[in-house]
Amino acid sequence: MTRFVFITGGVVSSLGKGILSAALGALLQARGYRVRLRKLDPYLNVDPGTMSPQQHGEVFVTEDGAETDLDLGHYERFTGVDARRSDSTTTGRIYSEVIARERRGDYLGATVQVIPHITDAIRDAITQDTDGADFALVEIGGTVGDIESLPFLEAIRQLGNELGEERALFVHLTLVPYIPSAGELKTKPTQHSVKELLNVGIQPQVLVCRSDRPIPPNERRKIALFCNVREAAVIPAIDVDTIYAVPLSYHAEGLDREVLHHFRLPCEALPDLSRWQDIVAKLRNPEGAVTIAVVGKYTNLLDSYKSLAEALAHGGIANRVKVRLDWVDSEVFETPGAIHRLEAVHGILVPGGFGERGTQGKIEAVRFARERRVPFLGICFGMQMAVIEAARNLAGMEGASSTEFGPCEVPVVGLLTEWTRGNLVERRAAGGELGGTMRLGAYPCEIAPDSMLAGIYGARRISERHRHRYEVNINFRPQLEAAGLRFAGMSPDGVLPEMVELPGHPWFVGVQFHPELKSRPFAPHPLFASFVAASVKQARLV
Ligand code: GLN
Repeated sequence: MTRFVFITGGVVSSLGKGILSAALGALLQARGYRVRLRKLDPYLNVDPGTMSPQQHGEVFVTEDGAETDLDLGHYERFTGVDARRSDSTTTGRIYSEVIARERRGDYLGATVQVIPHITDAIRDAITQDTDGADFALVEIGGTVGDIESLPFLEAIRQLGNELGEERALFVHLTLVPYIPSAGELKTKPTQHSVKELLNVGIQPQVLVCRSDRPIPPNERRKIALFCNVREAAVIPAIDVDTIYAVPLSYHAEGLDREVLHHFRLPCEALPDLSRWQDIVAKLRNPEGAVTIAVVGKYTNLLDSYKSLAEALAHGGIANRVKVRLDWVDSEVFETPGAIHRLEAVHGILVPGGFGERGTQGKIEAVRFARERRVPFLGICFGMQMAVIEAARNLAGMEGASSTEFGPCEVPVVGLLTEWTRGNLVERRAAGGELGGTMRLGAYPCEIAPDSMLAGIYGARRISERHRHRYEVNINFRPQLEAAGLRFAGMSPDGVLPEMVELPGHPWFVGVQFHPELKSRPFAPHPLFASFVAASVKQARLV
């Protein structure tokens, strides 16, 4: 029997609803329960794949190739449970499904309406494919009171009513702000937020209250009284120094106990939190520090590179060092002399990206890393830039570029028009639709046995997640390899270059996939562990 926990947020956005959901998932898991986490987003895009990362942060890609909200990345990192396409739903997806059904004639004779047709589709999305998990944690995007989230709230109200207390729980996250002039924490925003929920027929049973300082018993009592919840179910969420301390602090405040209490499940035994204690101890007591430059394009909104920043932190955990990130907008390297900034760093990473702006600066950064023997990791677009750099400066192909930026003389990176997925052939043409049409999700890769990368992975065949429309053009392999860039990883059919390395350089790797999506704090990804280890060596040299 799957129990449903619905997680809503109020007062303001950015209170950490995704981390709350992920941490609660981790706590229930630590008590031996199987969990699934899913997110409902109220925007009209069918998925976030076509949105700029500056709008909504990183696009997280699942094993089965869905482009989803970055909160799914938190869910995976905290629980280790791989998310699926069915774990991410948007208003746009719900509407497009309902409208397609209407056109097919599925509702023949009926007037198609928000209630019941849209709400029924939302309910199906919530309850489908739970895999017999003990708990499904369902996060509702947006803030209570938004016009956009109303159909979602109505759907979970109906579900709560139908499933009953023993199978449904509403958790609401709010803010308890400190007002300096009054010298007090204020509970009124929380009261108003719960009223908003009550207006749509939802009485939350657990309130999680974000605050920058401890919430005194008096205020907790007040919140419980005015919001009609048990006092023990008012859970303070005080700011902590690392997100990986969040499961520990929610446990200390009694969150998992309250959830189990609601469902009348035994809660006396303590969960095994040693995994989290270990991670936090390593993060709080590093034995050294390295600085890694991330040379990208969306550096003004760090959420754009959420999984990347986390994977680098995991690489730090693996090496017991603090990883400091120097976010650099690659355009700065288009100014002469600016490249010297990279002399202070111990590793250089060029992440994924789209479009021509800033590419020259990325290529300069690759060149610096190659020539100055600084550890380098190029991810997706970053690998493509590394190949263009090698083509231009090692192989002497001056006109080398990517057709992503328009027609070019030497297209060392070109549009990916055909590839296989299992037994299926996927085909794309220039000028086709842009939504959901990239090469997405997990694909296998074979590694050359005597390469540095084979040693890093400790395996010959691996699987990694992809999200790209362009690829390194295999026709240039002979010239590039002759110039020193080794194609160390290929798709099993030998057609798509997946990884390159530069023999003779201390650590120079480009990968066409996104390894950051599979890194976990308790299982750091081998590429990030190895890249940070190489940066530690570099730090000893400089
Ligand atoms: N823009 C490049 C492509 O589509 C790289 C994409 C990426 O870095 N995710 O192939």
